[in-house]
Amino acid sequence: MYAPPGVKVSPDLAIPDRMKAWVLRNPGELALTEKPVPVPKRAEVLVRIDAIAICATDLEVIAHGPPAMIEGGPPFNKSFTPGHEYMGTVAALGPGVDEFRIGQRVTVEIHAGCGQCKRCREGMYTSCHNYGLNYGDVDKGHRANGFTTDGGFCEYQVNNINTLIAIADDMSDEEATLVVTAGTAMYGLTELGGLVAGESVVVTGPGPIGLLGVAVAKSLGAYPVILTGTRDNRLRMGLELGADHVVNVTSEDPVDAVRRLNGGKGVDYVVECSGAPNAVNEAIRMVNRGGKVCLAAFPHDPALVDIAHIVRNNIYLYGIRGEGKSATHRAEAFMRQKRFDATKIHTHTFALEDLPTALRYAKDRVDDAIKVVVKARGVPQVQKEAAE
Ligand SMILES: [Zn+2]
Ligand SMILES: [Zn+2]
Repeated sequence: MYAPPGVKVSPDLAIPDRMKAWVLRNPGELALTEKPVPVPKRAEVLVRIDAIAICATDLEVIAHGPPAMIEGGPPFNKSFTPGHEYMGTVAALGPGVDEFRIGQRVTVEIHAGCGQCKRCREGMYTSCHNYGLNYGDVDKGHRANGFTTDGGFCEYQVNNINTLIAIADDMSDEEATLVVTAGTAMYGLTELGGLVAGESVVVTGPGPIGLLGVAVAKSLGAYPVILTGTRDNRLRMGLELGADHVVNVTSEDPVDAVRRLNGGKGVDYVVECSGAPNAVNEAIRMVNRGGKVCLAAFPHDPALVDIAHIVRNNIYLYGIRGEGKSATHRAEAFMRQKRFDATKIHTHTFALEDLPTALRYAKDRVDDAIKVVVKARGVPQVQKEAAE
């Protein structure tokens, strides 16, 4: 059985030596294999993965590679396990860890910064200057599970204690996988944006991040919160998550609609989650003078942007990288207090062995899928996929 030297384990939670793990071979090609269960070092714990949600970024990584980067290069054929939105149970403690106990349920943030660069020292560890430097003689200790180090489409993973968030007992596994998504929205609005209660927010694009962006903005006291999108069922979900108004952009000009709904004026913030080609030009016309636009989607192609409008109107335009400054901890606090029901965006659950089916549901929005979750235990396998 699993008993590495210096690592604390418990008879209550037996750990095997080897585990099932999906690995990325050529672009778009995943294989279910076996790997040794990883060993936590100082300030790390071993997490038994109980549930993992699929993110649009996972689809990008699996099909194209970036933003994943393994040993300084593309993530293909390196025995790399993708997946980053997971939660689970603390199964073993690395040397010196007393911040968590074995058996405790946790959800995870993605990034453990190097802790020594300028941005890490500022708490902006998702912008770590030593991103991806975690191997050989350039090992700076940076980890981004599912991007630069092994992720969660497997049974166990090692996490730095700073990436762990204890969750409420009554929070389901599925809901806990959504904490990091809500944490990303929180980081964009508060730490990066400086939102204070009573300011007005538009969220463009009702995907998972946009929908939870609405929920978080509302919980932070924003007013009004306006959601724009193309699909009525998603917009209805936005209303259930707290949007004051929704705009279907196929029937109304979104800039006009936002100004009409906000008393004839632009709003203080736009959180751009659509990635649409003209999204930035619309966003900079939705905000008021001095307003802020948070870019949370990445379009594939470069876009033409009306810089003069940004300059003349003193508009702040900023990208967001993950979920820094412990924003995820505060997102969990909102969810613990039932400030919004994130489970509304969870639509499907599959067994770990059914990962290819789960990815297809997420990618093609089969059966109107939004957040698709995969679980290693307790979910019957529905489909025999070619495993090798
Ligand atoms: Zn994600
Ligand atoms: Zn760093």
